[in-house]
Amino acid sequence: MNIVIAGTGYVGLVTAVVLAHVGHQVFCVDVDGAKIEQLKKGVCPIHEPALPELMVENLCRLTFTTDYAAAYSDKDAIFIAVGTPEKVDGSANLSYVYAVAEQIAASVTSDCVVVVKSTVPIGTNEKVEQHLKKHLKRDVTIEVVSNPEFLSQGTAIKDMLHGSRIVVGTESESARRVMASIYENLEQPVIFTDRRSAEMIKYASNDFLALKISYINEIANLCEVLGANVVDVARGMGMDPRIGDKFLRAGIGYGGSCFPKDTKALHWLGNFHDHELKTVKAAIEVNENQKLRLIKKARKYYSSFEGLTVAVLGLTFKPGTDDLREAPSLTNIPILLDNGAKVKAYDPYGVEQFKRKVSGDIMYCTTPEETLKDADICFILTEWPEVMELQPVHFLAMKRPIILDGRNCYDPGIMEGYPLVYDSIGRTAVS
Ligand code: NAD
Repeated sequence: MNIVIAGTGYVGLVTAVVLAHVGHQVFCVDVDGAKIEQLKKGVCPIHEPALPELMVENLCRLTFTTDYAAAYSDKDAIFIAVGTPEKVDGSANLSYVYAVAEQIAASVTSDCVVVVKSTVPIGTNEKVEQHLKKHLKRDVTIEVVSNPEFLSQGTAIKDMLHGSRIVVGTESESARRVMASIYENLEQPVIFTDRRSAEMIKYASNDFLALKISYINEIANLCEVLGANVVDVARGMGMDPRIGDKFLRAGIGYGGSCFPKDTKALHWLGNFHDHELKTVKAAIEVNENQKLRLIKKARKYYSSFEGLTVAVLGLTFKPGTDDLREAPSLTNIPILLDNGAKVKAYDPYGVEQFKRKVSGDIMYCTTPEETLKDADICFILTEWPEVMELQPVHFLAMKRPIILDGRNCYDPGIMEGYPLVYDSIGRTAVS
């Protein structure tokens, strides 16, 4: 089939490459000319494991362009995969989605299916369809289908090739047939629902996962007070198939481009309809506090950050990505700097983006070991493999080896007997 993807971000580019991989001709459109130039040269603009290799392997079925009018004119399906960021009031900003809808309406010359892959509030697909019809320049039939995406950054290719399900929201028989043939070579269950239910499946899933994380984080904080070990608690809980062992890893809270905005957007939508989601509200509040957990812990060891050198290991919101959206580093490092600390930071992929977002007394290091040297305290914010591989002796290069581990990278037992402090999440500190 001939498919266009609008937006070559984390979702759009991965979707394009995977659909090309299963045999479709895929046209990728983006308004970002520099990104398209890179892609035309076969250079992948984001860090996502296995993506560059799979992209290069399938270049013969991939076309990259900024010329949306030519791309949208006569295709079987057009996927909308642009961002839906958070507005100041927490609701979803749909301006990018509607802008693409207008461009499609101005350009299509034959019947096609428009697939909304971006995460959009319940009822948006209907509005996109109305918007398209209002702006259509020719007498063609366009069906709008909801097809939310469930990939996780860092494992996006694996997730899309071997996902747990593909959700398609449509009540049109012809659109259903088009979607079934787009996905026929991906061996995954396809669930067909109405559009509103498909839109809700995405938000309800993300918000449930966020809730699970905030729940285990609250339990972790209580474990610290009561002398229990949250890793053992989560293991014991996760063995119950009614609970499951995923998303029970305590830490300094979730970040990224989805959970923070999707919890706020659904909470906003509930309030708008006079139906507050109290559990989602609690998940948001717990997460905001959890991001400050290491700052609070640091007060046990120093009365002030003034003049301290803080080693920060990890800037991105999770390992395996260069994405900094809503990363705990963006909350923690400005607080450290504002309170007079000097920061030494390490991240294998996030430094360039971080420099664009935060300025101040920050020295960027190329290895975790160099970062730790002569530091007064260490904050672990991302569990990169090279951070997980550190041994207790590496921390002894610090001026005062106080390790605040926001990702529970190490077994506290291995720290015993060394002249250091190891304080993690939901476990008794070793000192
Ligand atoms: P992104 O910010 O990485 O990419 C969006 C891309 O769209 C950018 O390259 C931007 O230049 C481009 N764009 C903007 N306007 C355009 C236009 N008119 N025409 C063509 N391109 C245009 O976003 P993302 O992280 O890929 O997320 C996209 C959507 O998918 C969001 O709704 C998000 O919530 C959802 N989602 C994201 C993830 C994830 O892990 N990132 C997972 C599931 C769902």
